Amino acid sequence: MSISIYTYDAIIVGSGLAGCAAARELQNAGKKVAVITKLHPLRSHSGAAQGGVNAAFSDEDSVELHEYDTVKGSDYLADQDAVEFLCKNAPETIRWIEKMGAAFSRTPDGKIAQRPFGGQSSPRACYAKDRTGLTLLQTIYEQAYRVGVKFWDEWYVADLIYKDGKVSGVIAFNIRDMEMAIFNSKSVMFATGGYARSFKINSNAHANTGDGLSIVARHGLPLEDMEFVQFHPSGLSGNGVLISEAARGEGGKLFNSEGERFMERYAPNALELASRDVVSRAILNEIREGRGVGPRKDAVFIDVTHLGKDLIMERLPELRELAITFLGLDMIKEPILISATAHYSMGGIPVNIAGNVRKNNTEFVEGFYAAGECSCVSVHGANRLGANSVLEALLFGRYVGKTMVKEVDNIELRVATKEDANTALAEIDFMLNNNGNETVPVLREELQQCMTANAGAFRTNDTLEIAVAKVKELRKRFRNIRIKDKSNIFNTELQEAIEFGHMIDYSRFIVESAIARKESRGAHFREDFDTRDDENFLKHTMGYMNDNGDISLDYMDVTLGKHELKARTY
Ligand SMILES: Cc1cc2nc3c(=O)[nH]c(=O)nc-3n(C[C@H](O)[C@H](O)[C@H](O)COP(=O)(O)OP(=O)(O)OC[C@H]3O[C@@H](n4cnc5c(N)ncnc54)[C@H](O)[C@@H]3O)c2cc1C
Repeated sequence: MSISIYTYDAIIVGSGLAGCAAARELQNAGKKVAVITKLHPLRSHSGAAQGGVNAAFSDEDSVELHEYDTVKGSDYLADQDAVEFLCKNAPETIRWIEKMGAAFSRTPDGKIAQRPFGGQSSPRACYAKDRTGLTLLQTIYEQAYRVGVKFWDEWYVADLIYKDGKVSGVIAFNIRDMEMAIFNSKSVMFATGGYARSFKINSNAHANTGDGLSIVARHGLPLEDMEFVQFHPSGLSGNGVLISEAARGEGGKLFNSEGERFMERYAPNALELASRDVVSRAILNEIREGRGVGPRKDAVFIDVTHLGKDLIMERLPELRELAITFLGLDMIKEPILISATAHYSMGGIPVNIAGNVRKNNTEFVEGFYAAGECSCVSVHGANRLGANSVLEALLFGRYVGKTMVKEVDNIELRVATKEDANTALAEIDFMLNNNGNETVPVLREELQQCMTANAGAFRTNDTLEIAVAKVKELRKRFRNIRIKDKSNIFNTELQEAIEFGHMIDYSRFIVESAIARKESRGAHFREDFDTRDDENFLKHTMGYMNDNGDISLDYMDVTLGKHELKARTY
């Protein structure tokens, strides 16, 4: 098979908020940069963000409060130096993106409007109706394009070129026609986004299959804090499509089958605006105890009817449309059915604040960077607060771009040989030609069902053992795969097979890290160890995979700071 060769100063994989923000910095500084993305940039999952982006700039709010809420929300697992960096630079980040053209919703006196979100002491989420992510993504994509960033869209990155402690490019193919290419580059950034697709009920785009993480892990590099998966309280019943926290932020109330506003029992002060892990477990507990609603009794009601048509149409029009489309329920007239949905992943590719990827607890990989949801810096610790991750993606994307500008001239370009593409080519060849009797849709359904049932918002040693066994079994069965489409043109069956391989590998990290963490912290709730154990587990998990797919675990210290450990109540 022939291979094309391209050469750049910087390759950014992913064109969501993080990728576009980084690329713009690099291009503006005169570097030759390419963004490789399997989707058109505006279809990146960042565009689906609804509710808002945090920055403390109102008179009642402060950077310190934002830090405090974030650290408390994280159940004290966040690194406080990273949180400080995030919160301190948030107001300037909002002004920066606004100056580039992002049209935020306004208060009557012309200021940027801010809405309350869960776990926050003050209304802090800046928003553009309930289409915040799309507004921001359009702005940053436009600006990156304007300064001349080259976008390779509908190109799939299949492997990383990593040798001798240094990354020097990627192997990718054109989804349109299977052109294979080596991209040599002095520096590479992964901004490949979230990966909640390994759960049956999830809020994520189909593309969120964790490719970046598994590619990294297959080279023996670590993944951090993978056990922490956030379950958002309000996914539409049955399919998990997100009803943003904006619905509760604007005043939405939750009710069970007995008409009880049950959050009064779980979080008497914050009620529906307690942090996400708390509200999600409350909802699931109501359902487990038989107070669910809907035809399958597997949901609760969220009611916003008291807000009135005008406010709903002004601030939540997209949410209303989603509920009409998927459930046939109009939230202006009636409550709608929701339940918890796998939504966000706190863990990922470990990086320092500058965005350098860790080789282990103390060393870094030369020429390799990550930002956005695929990375773990860690500002969210064990549980992310709503509206902090769009902020993280934009802010760290931009600042890591600045780091790359500084470092790239000191990195020598290393030109790959054709052999560097062998692993990726062999895998593609195997998928196309293996004549087994397993199919991806069947295996994927089994994985997703298993993860939701056994590694979800409630976990025990027994359920997690089931999950580990299943993931192992699926990895084996995957080697007996068969795909029908052998063509070179938009071979989505092949792409889905490659993606499923990624889902299997990072899922193993989730379940193995979760078994080993014998405590409950943030989104990781162990029914058999239902309290936080700071003595033994105030530390980050670092997982490493070997060639057989087995995981070994190590731990890394949490960077503590001025916000002292306390019990977390809302
Ligand atoms: C429904 C929904 C609503 C949300 N609402 C909010 C909110 O209101 N506020 C908030 O703060 N957060 C919200 N979030 C979370 C937030 O949107 C994301 O964490 C954030 O936008 C991620 O940005 P990113 O740049 O890291 O990745 P993404 O925007 O997901 O982009 C990932 C990119 O990687 C590319 N890619 C991946 N794999 C490959 C590959 N193998 N080859 C080539 N390209 C690849 C994709 O093409 C894509 O361009 C929401 C998330 C969801 C799912």
